[in-house]
Amino acid sequence: MSDRHVIVLGAGPAGLAAASGALAEGARVTLLDEGDRLGGQYWRHHERLTDPRLQHGWAAFIALRDAIAAACESGRATVLQRAAVWRIDGEARRVHALVGTADAPGRRRVEIAGDAIVLATGAHDRALPLPGWTLPGVITAGAAQALAKRDGVVVGRRTLVAGAGPFLLPVAQSLAIAGSEVVAVLEASRVPALAAGWLARPWELLGAAGKAGELAEYAASLARHRTPYRTGHGVVRILGDRRVEGAVIARLDPQWRPIAGTEREVACDAVALGHGFMPRIDAALQVGCAVTDAAPGAPRFVVVDAVQRTSVDGVLAAGEITGIGGADAALAEGDLAGRTAAGAAEASLRRAVRRRDATDAFARRLEGAHGMRDGWRTWLEDDTLVCRCESVDAGTIARAAGSASRAMRLATRAGLGACQGRTCGAAVEALCGERLGLDRRPLLAPMRLSELAGARDAPGDLPSPV
Ligand SMILES: Cc1cc2nc3c(=O)[nH]c(=O)nc-3n(C[C@H](O)[C@H](O)[C@H](O)COP(=O)(O)OP(=O)(O)OC[C@H]3O[C@@H](n4cnc5c(N)ncnc54)[C@H](O)[C@@H]3O)c2cc1C
Repeated sequence: MSDRHVIVLGAGPAGLAAASGALAEGARVTLLDEGDRLGGQYWRHHERLTDPRLQHGWAAFIALRDAIAAACESGRATVLQRAAVWRIDGEARRVHALVGTADAPGRRRVEIAGDAIVLATGAHDRALPLPGWTLPGVITAGAAQALAKRDGVVVGRRTLVAGAGPFLLPVAQSLAIAGSEVVAVLEASRVPALAAGWLARPWELLGAAGKAGELAEYAASLARHRTPYRTGHGVVRILGDRRVEGAVIARLDPQWRPIAGTEREVACDAVALGHGFMPRIDAALQVGCAVTDAAPGAPRFVVVDAVQRTSVDGVLAAGEITGIGGADAALAEGDLAGRTAAGAAEASLRRAVRRRDATDAFARRLEGAHGMRDGWRTWLEDDTLVCRCESVDAGTIARAAGSASRAMRLATRAGLGACQGRTCGAAVEALCGERLGLDRRPLLAPMRLSELAGARDAPGDLPSPV
């Protein structure tokens, strides 16, 4: 049995599995998440309103939640919800968090030190800028999903869902169940890319067999609601005066450039945009973990070894931050990371390693079939806002491209607003053609100056509200 204390940051599938894996190896666990409830993005829910038709793998969530709750009762686990981790000291394996309602005064400041830290901070969804995307009624696919899934709320009566990736399917299903008519689902990738990505070497995808069932359910939902699904199509302009009144859609070439003459207008009052996910690697970058190399604007992932250790001693990583692979991959990686963090011998990890390896192919196929193509830049016009917090348009960014990173940011203020580049950073870097370091943040969560300056609370005095 382990006598280690494992700190887990993030209570999505990866973090929950990490906590449960570490507990199974006998470690003591502290699990922190800024959300109100456990479950992360995949199991986002509301205690009273969540429609069970919108949840998948719910039994797995209950099993993980109950195992952690039992460990809390016996004093082996502590769960901190509404705990925004704003700083991590990797060398000392110490995390700093503010506990309490986000933006409210009086949050408690806590510091927790452990023997190992598992980073499982997930991803946020990516919406590419295009003319009209700042109109009320335009929403990211992830936000549309979160609102429908947790609160049963939709932003429009007729919604167009557009972007790339299989995530558009649960979004369409959730919107339809929550009461919006989904006008169409537009997938930017074309059939040859999809076939090359998904149909080659089918035996490699056996580890993701569960996904096939989920996919069949979404396909049935599209058919039941008579929702058209068009590949090689995208929204190239959103129309409206004070809010969304329609959208121009077009056929796209293999690089996602609109094909001239194929544009047509579609009436709708909401547009949900999602072009994949960007991993939330800022905590890993702050700790000094090595990340993969990638073209400017493309996602970078935390580098892990065969048992989920990062390049920083005592810091492990799991879930979307090591590669976008969906909830099954996050669960498998989390379990392995938690067990490794608890100090399990490598020989006893073979089963967990095999389970993790079985989910790898799915992540690679996702990128191959739906990964971003450069042609999206041709959707932009000079006055299309890219950085919404600071109102910086594509023309301004193009003119400043080529200046040094700091000069470019100070001159245009792109990425320096309230979201600190979380929404626009990838697009700004792609348009400049260079890495500007917008994902490197001294503070991992927004906080008040008084909180930053505030006195420390006693680390031992922690609530445990599972
Ligand atoms: C908005 C959105 C909705 C999604 N909905 C679905 C869906 O319905 N179906 C589906 O198949 N896939 C969905 N996905 C994809 C999904 O993210 C993954 O498949 C899965 O949830 C990944 O698990 P994870 O544990 O790696 O990350 P997540 O589930 O994202 O969990 C990460 C957790 O870390 C916490 N966190 C991050 N940083 C901090 C910090 N500094 N302090 C405190 N807590 C922090 C977050 O609050 C979050 O709970 C969604 C993705 C997004 C972005």
